[in-house]
Amino acid sequence: MSDINKDVHKHDLLGGRLCLDFANTVSWHDSSEESQELLTSYEKLVNWSLHANILNKQQSLSLLKKAEDQPAKAIEVLQQAIELRESIYQIFSLVTKNETPASKDLAILNEALSNAYGKMRVVLGENKFSLEFLNGEETLDGMLPPIVQSAIDILTSEKELSRVKKCEGHPCGWLFLDTSRNRSRRWCSMADCGNRAKAKRFYRNKK
Ligand SMILES: [Zn+2]
Repeated sequence: MSDINKDVHKHDLLGGRLCLDFANTVSWHDSSEESQELLTSYEKLVNWSLHANILNKQQSLSLLKKAEDQPAKAIEVLQQAIELRESIYQIFSLVTKNETPASKDLAILNEALSNAYGKMRVVLGENKFSLEFLNGEETLDGMLPPIVQSAIDILTSEKELSRVKKCEGHPCGWLFLDTSRNRSRRWCSMADCGNRAKAKRFYRNKK
């Protein structure tokens, strides 16, 4: 099995929440012509999940081995993950514009939620109960429940939901949680889209 794929390893996690980072696994997400898919194989989905700390190395290796034995199922899970990601992206994109998400996208998220609940257990810790995910390596789609939970956590938190923003660098389209005190964050990254915007402004002023 290959080690973490270089492209995936370099892929920035700037969203501030797992589901937003997952939504950002497409570069130039807002452009139909220039968008670039990161998750081009099941292996990349697993590698990204390792990169995003959903899975540990041993779980990732175990999933990749399982996928070798069930290639058709692995492709199905990849398609399911991409469908879920696009729904998450559409839902939060509309939320940033104060618009209502499409019921089709909410239905996809809800279906993923019912699958996710099947992979969660309430466990008793030292002196409190908590929700835990079953081992991520048990089924090929084991990386999806934490992503779904992350999306539900934001959607059901008024405070967090109001802080979801879309990068102003067009057509970047990346989503992030603005945790700055005065809610002034405008770009996915200052080094990338922020600098490009600054350079554009500089050029305009010079003219
Ligand atoms: Zn950006």
